Amino acid sequence: MHPITDPAVIEGYLGDASNTRGHAEALYRPRSTEDVAEVLAAATTAGVGVTVTARRTSTTGGPVPDGGWLLSTEHLDRIHAVDDCDAGVLLGAYQTQTEAGGRLFPPDPTSRHECTLGAAIACNASGARSFAYGATRPWVEAVQVVLPTGEILWADRDTPVPAAWPVPRWSEPIVKTAAGYFPADNLLDLMIGQEGTLGVITRARLRLTAPPPAVMGVVAFFGDRAALLAFVDHARTGARRPGQAASPGALSPRALEYFDSHALALVRARVPDIPEAATDALFIEVEHAGEPPLEAWWDALEAHGALVDATIVTEDEAGRARLHAVRHAVPAGVNEQVVANGMPKVGTDFAVPDSALAEMMDAYAAVPLPHVCFGHIGDNHLHLNLLPRSAAELEQARAIYKTLARQAVQLGGTVSAEHGIGKIKRSLLAEMVGPEVIAAFRALKTAVDPAGVLGRGTLF
Ligand SMILES: Cc1cc2nc3c(=O)[nH]c(=O)nc-3n(C[C@H](O)[C@H](O)[C@H](O)COP(=O)(O)OP(=O)(O)OC[C@H]3O[C@@H](n4cnc5c(N)ncnc54)[C@H](O)[C@@H]3O)c2cc1C
Repeated sequence: MHPITDPAVIEGYLGDASNTRGHAEALYRPRSTEDVAEVLAAATTAGVGVTVTARRTSTTGGPVPDGGWLLSTEHLDRIHAVDDCDAGVLLGAYQTQTEAGGRLFPPDPTSRHECTLGAAIACNASGARSFAYGATRPWVEAVQVVLPTGEILWADRDTPVPAAWPVPRWSEPIVKTAAGYFPADNLLDLMIGQEGTLGVITRARLRLTAPPPAVMGVVAFFGDRAALLAFVDHARTGARRPGQAASPGALSPRALEYFDSHALALVRARVPDIPEAATDALFIEVEHAGEPPLEAWWDALEAHGALVDATIVTEDEAGRARLHAVRHAVPAGVNEQVVANGMPKVGTDFAVPDSALAEMMDAYAAVPLPHVCFGHIGDNHLHLNLLPRSAAELEQARAIYKTLARQAVQLGGTVSAEHGIGKIKRSLLAEMVGPEVIAAFRALKTAVDPAGVLGRGTLF
């Protein structure tokens, strides 16, 4: 394969959504798994670092190169069959095609129309409906992967991890998490969530399910956060969770999403129905067959002090699309504020156990800088977006972020629930897992990638 060395072309591949930028000497755009193997084998022989880059929507610096070569997956772009897809295909494009054929691939990161399937697997991405369906991991049956040495193999859950690879045995926090190597007992699970440090995923066989017959969308407003939290507890009691069926009679939402008062302020202009008294809101999706379970939800909302008269319910696709547009208007509004401030935002991705949700939200609400908080409350996984207006406030925001990360860890949580560690959260991962686990991660990495070529600077 011939590298591209034109700096003007390489320039477009040097950053990601974290606003960090790197440098690289060459760019490879392989068209096949064999091309990928050729590049990696050559890199291992030459001892040159290789950074895998896909669509660069990472918020963690993972695809940002620290010198060496870039390997872009953009030309690994074929959908081979409904459940068999190349890594460089856009996740949303794959899902649109799959759904047109009457099947569902559930992982739904907000960025799904901008990010690739391969990266979603490499980062074990998740989204709103992960509350019921889980992250990407359970929906992958097998991956084709190229190891740093250039060896090509298929890995599924019957493929053992090579005996010479010391898989770290560590206790992940018991929350939704995307931080560090998975303590896997098979090669597939080891390759999911490794953030481009153990192998390049070139193709995947996926697990699909039947789409739900119907989905009801609800936006419920509250005038009191404690009431909202009590309702969240009620709504997720007995709910369908990854690998676990719903209890009879449970409300069982597939998505439970939170918006604080600042998030509501951002979308008030677009949603005139938001009541004055609303301080917080929930965006809820419920799958159902037959009649929508409106009465049960209505009763529960009323019993928990929601502002029921203002509740918005939609039962058709068009209505849900409108609600999604409003939901996505929040991050868009945050980004507009970032541009207006001329300062980057500082966003959290922590998750904590159920018992610590209220304490974590109190800490978020108390931050002394402009902020917007929203996200996956069903998984106790909220994104606090700090919006500094000056260099001094940016420094302050970064310090607050670290303090909150430590608090999340102390409460039994994770420093990354879905975006991964990349390069910018390495020190937080080290604090979360401790030096022994980091040493175990390194030992695995050295066994898989003796020349240390792949994903230099990512994870550690
Ligand atoms: C607005 C916005 C919303 C987002 N929402 C979500 C969300 O809801 N949930 C969520 O989980 N994430 C979210 N993200 C983060 C990001 O979109 C995901 O991490 C996504 O999986 C990255 O995909 P990408 O194609 O852009 O990969 P890149 O950013 O290019 O790469 C991400 C990482 O994966 C590695 N990688 C990429 N492809 C491969 C491969 N084929 N084999 C091995 N390693 C590979 C790279 O080296 C890098 O470390 C969001 C980001 C943005 C900007």
